[in-house]
Amino acid sequence: MEFVTAAGGAVGRIGQGTWYLGEHPAKAEAERNALRTGMEAGMNLIDTAEMYGEGAAEELVGSAIQGFERQELYLVSKVYPFNAGRERIFVSCENSLRRMRTDYLDLYLLHWRGGVPLAETVECMEELKAKGRIRAWGVSNLDVADMQELLAVPGGQGCAANQVLYHLGSRGIEFRLLPLLAKQGIPVMAYCPLAQAGKLRRGLLAHSAVQKIAFAHGISSAQVLLAFLLARPGVLPIPRTGRAVHAGENAAAMQLQLSEAELAALDRAFPAPTRKVPLDIQ
Ligand code: NAP
Repeated sequence: MEFVTAAGGAVGRIGQGTWYLGEHPAKAEAERNALRTGMEAGMNLIDTAEMYGEGAAEELVGSAIQGFERQELYLVSKVYPFNAGRERIFVSCENSLRRMRTDYLDLYLLHWRGGVPLAETVECMEELKAKGRIRAWGVSNLDVADMQELLAVPGGQGCAANQVLYHLGSRGIEFRLLPLLAKQGIPVMAYCPLAQAGKLRRGLLAHSAVQKIAFAHGISSAQVLLAFLLARPGVLPIPRTGRAVHAGENAAAMQLQLSEAELAALDRAFPAPTRKVPLDIQ
């Protein structure tokens, strides 16, 4: 249920997102520094996608990883749904590898479900694996029904992750999707773990229940949000930052452990759902 690097080493419990990074040349140096600070502090999983800046985020990752031991990193990219069929996925994957300056991806995800049959995508992913271009494949934004369909296609059980939106203010997956994935031994990569710095849920970071815990530990509200996710086994948050100081804080959150009482207080302020709700998507 855990991610392991090609060298057989551990993957940090928190990874690094890259959406919106690499899009502004004036910010590139700071963003590269942020990623490098994060890697040095143990956030060796980096998540990107061909969609992000139409390749610009992958290029930023490619430059940021120079000088790091490739086999000790865990690089994740995603293929657009319309590129996830036999005619285009192999070219898409090669383009991602070239932009990221690497010869393999640790994990390649179907970004969301589109028109290509899942069986065809799985078949291609398995071919990429056999060719050594990827070490594992997974999906993103697949809810319960799609996940069940995937697991039933030939090879579908090979799915190594589902990346979905998950943060303290959006706990819909806890009702059915999370238990299903846990039962299958499929880890969850939690995207938008900081609710995009609160943009997706006004008042989340400033909520008194969050701030009380932050104050007690001498940490930031963002770190409380990450600690909340770390308390769930099999969940790996991938916060994104363009600032080294925030990357350091995010990495430091890997050491945090909230008490039962603190987790209960967060439950009261942001209750888990008691019925199935549609998957939240960004
Ligand atoms: P996010 O990580 O929830 O939030 C990013 C925001 O939080 C940025 O504004 C960042 O600003 C701020 N931030 C980061 N660390 C902070 C800290 N320690 N203290 C205060 N603010 C902090 O949002 P996201 O980028 O949308 O999601 C994370 C990653 O998930 C993405 O980058 C992407 O890799 C992935 N994702 C995947 C999908 C999908 O469909 N599969 C969808 C969305 C996202 P600063 O730069 O100023 O720090």
